[in-house]
Amino acid sequence: MINVTKTFLPLQVEYQAILKRAWDTGWMTNRGVLVQELEAKLKTYLGVPNIIATTNGTLPIQIAIKALGLKGEIITTPFSYVATTSSIVWEGCIPRFVDIDPDYLTIDETKIEAAITTNTSAILATHVFGNPCAVETIEAIAKKHKLKVIYDAAHCFGVTYKGQSLFNYGDVSTCSFHATKLFHTGEGGALFCRPTYFDTLFSHHNFGHDGPEAFQSLGINAKMSEPQAAMGLAVLPYMNKILEERKKIVDSYTKAFVTTKLQLLKIRKHSKWNYSYYPVIFEDENQLLKVKRALENHSIFPRRYFYPSLNRLPYIEQQNMVVSESIASRVLCLPLYAGLELEDLNQIINIVKEQLL
Ligand SMILES: *Cc1c(COP(=O)(O)O)cnc(C)c1O
Repeated sequence: MINVTKTFLPLQVEYQAILKRAWDTGWMTNRGVLVQELEAKLKTYLGVPNIIATTNGTLPIQIAIKALGLKGEIITTPFSYVATTSSIVWEGCIPRFVDIDPDYLTIDETKIEAAITTNTSAILATHVFGNPCAVETIEAIAKKHKLKVIYDAAHCFGVTYKGQSLFNYGDVSTCSFHATKLFHTGEGGALFCRPTYFDTLFSHHNFGHDGPEAFQSLGINAKMSEPQAAMGLAVLPYMNKILEERKKIVDSYTKAFVTTKLQLLKIRKHSKWNYSYYPVIFEDENQLLKVKRALENHSIFPRRYFYPSLNRLPYIEQQNMVVSESIASRVLCLPLYAGLELEDLNQIINIVKEQLL
């Protein structure tokens, strides 16, 4: 069976050797030595001024909305994983969708200003498949209208834009270290922010504690645990190898599909991408379903990332998003992971191409 992704596992002895250090200290959580070491290593690896390791990639979005004091409407993208929208609703705010760019699949920055009202407090956009949003334009719009900017950067581990980490853009960026993501800690994630927000976000992720007996703010528990951090420390040394393998697969797919009618992801200029997903966009949904069925007949399971378009969620006031709904109905992510065998890769390519004829 071949799935859209396969969790990268380090050698079990490597994981256990790191985990043993948690046994030695007797600490399983509350920011023990492993979480602190992982944060320090990621800071260097990613080139970010600060990081808060968290228990997953959804709570950081909710914490960002809460800690920045966002109210009313938040401008957001309909083309993302459900967590982007659900976090807005969960925090009592209203998602105001702006359609996406048909090539980059990120929020269409030229349509943002028209969606701003007196109730708008922020822009929450996703760097879809690790492809950066138009960060400069979004920053200019936010400055002009005094809005905060949060990026759901769940897919962006290791991505750089104009030579620096994509996590350094916006007021707050969040990442997911879920087992299906490029870099993982089983479940896990992180917060990145402008230095002025660090203390507030840090406090929010730990119940609002200010020392053992005082509280500086409202908070929740989003702390990463020691076993999670141990997985991260065991996986991190493999990242260059993982990226190299993924690049080879991506290059093979692109070489095979560039001459077909499939629309491929256009990466924004000045970006160093991380080969996190391989979406292909069909001419229509029937063609997608045909290819998906053919692959499934060979026990190959691609995924419809992202479907449905989030403006169609049952708990959202209906808003039409022509581009996003069209793309969502036609996009399929093909298997992509370190360890995907060449033979299997060729089979996937052949099946897709066969169905396109
Ligand atoms: C995976 C993902 C999340 C949620 O991360 P979890 O770690 O699963 O909570 C949020 N946004 C996007 C775009 C994602 O792909």
